[in-house]
Amino acid sequence: MGDFMDLDRHDFELDELVARIKENDNRLIALQVPEGLKMQALEMMDEIESETSAKVVLAADPCYGACDLVHDKMSMMGVELVAHMGHSQMNIDSGMPTQFIDVTYDGDPELTPILPFLEAHRNMAIKRKEDQNSKDDMSDEQAKERFLDAVGRLAPLSDTKLGLVGSIQHLHLLPEFHDRLEKAGFDVTIPIGGARLSFPGQVLGCNYSGDDPSIGHYLFLGSGDFHPIGLVLHTGKPLAMLDPYTGDAEEMSLERIERILRQRFGLIMSCGDAQSFGILIGEKPGQMRRSLALKMKRMLENHGKKGYLLALEHVGPDLIDFYPVDAFVNTACPRIAIDDAIRYRKPLITPFELEVALGEKKWETGYMFDEIP
Ligand code: SF4
Repeated sequence: MGDFMDLDRHDFELDELVARIKENDNRLIALQVPEGLKMQALEMMDEIESETSAKVVLAADPCYGACDLVHDKMSMMGVELVAHMGHSQMNIDSGMPTQFIDVTYDGDPELTPILPFLEAHRNMAIKRKEDQNSKDDMSDEQAKERFLDAVGRLAPLSDTKLGLVGSIQHLHLLPEFHDRLEKAGFDVTIPIGGARLSFPGQVLGCNYSGDDPSIGHYLFLGSGDFHPIGLVLHTGKPLAMLDPYTGDAEEMSLERIERILRQRFGLIMSCGDAQSFGILIGEKPGQMRRSLALKMKRMLENHGKKGYLLALEHVGPDLIDFYPVDAFVNTACPRIAIDDAIRYRKPLITPFELEVALGEKKWETGYMFDEIP
């Protein structure tokens, strides 16, 4: 997911796409663009149609990530090639020729305003590393407190490096920022994640697999708080944000993360007595976690509870609130339960949270973010 602003300064790189269409002599292609770029889509369609002999269909449904490929629908329409813009390829097989088009932004923000945050966060990481005594023999109260603590929850730190990450349209800045930050006295690493991520330093709303114990704190290059919230919830590490669009420097507030954790805690507690659950399965190719959904159903049955499997492409309150169940477990996009929680009348929890509610997982491991590997 990403935010796009100041469109003139974006580079859409349509040349490769145009060359590929000409080479294959494609007649019908589909264009899929993220929400923030839809305003420009007609212009892009004009450009492609005037430079090639292909007709272009815009896949106009909402698109929030490369998890959301429209290939089946488009191939039924006779489309020969899909151009997917602004997201990088994931480890899912779409079964259709796809051109992934990077969108990069040429902003290059000043480093100075972010340095005080980074220094403070490094000190937090150093203190945390020094303080990491054995946390065995926790009382139930202490375990619940730990669950609610935004930092210092997860695996012990082996170092206090600065992890440099960004959203996709700013990743080209990372090597240069790595060097600048090293010059400013930081020990910097650009984390490399698993198969769902294409580039070093990349983060998705649902995958932070680059995190490792040598990283003590983070700098995120990008805008909006979508990725920062996920990264801090997932890692429990402090994070500073530098926005290449505006040059603004700030930090992800730990009070905010603790508020989210308290809300999650409340939802888990309120599911303790729930007898019947709707288990949501996402139909988008990169969100479909059928085995996980079936595992949740079995787990509920083992606890004498009921689970109904509900498959849907888009998840929203109007589409599920009316089912006569006590709560929902979401196995589609992990962010739905976290970011939209208050929009639902009934508790909507993640698979990890259901495991905690049923006593299969323990509070003292700390909050675990729902990741798609
Ligand atoms: S599953 Fe959700 S968070 Fe992950 S890429 Fe798709 S839309 Fe983004």
